[in-house]
Amino acid sequence: MLKSLVKYMKCYNCGTEYSFDLKNFRCTKCNEPLEIEYNYEEISGKISRNTFARDFTTPP
Ligand SMILES: [Zn+2]
Repeated sequence: MLKSLVKYMKCYNCGTEYSFDLKNFRCTKCNEPLEIEYNYEEISGKISRNTFARDFTTPP
C-alpha cells in the first residue's frame, strides 16, 4: 500500500530523482539520504488526514 502512495524519491543535494525502492534510500551519486515525495492526491482519496498523521508520524 505504501508503495503506491509514493511518487518518487529525490536527493535534495544534487536533485536526482529515483523511483521508490526500499533497498535504496541514499543517493548513488553523493550518498545523501533521499527525501520521499508522497502522492498526496492518492493519499487524500484513500485515507483521512487523521489516519495519515497517525500512521506516518508514529514510529513503528
Ligand atoms: Zn545526490
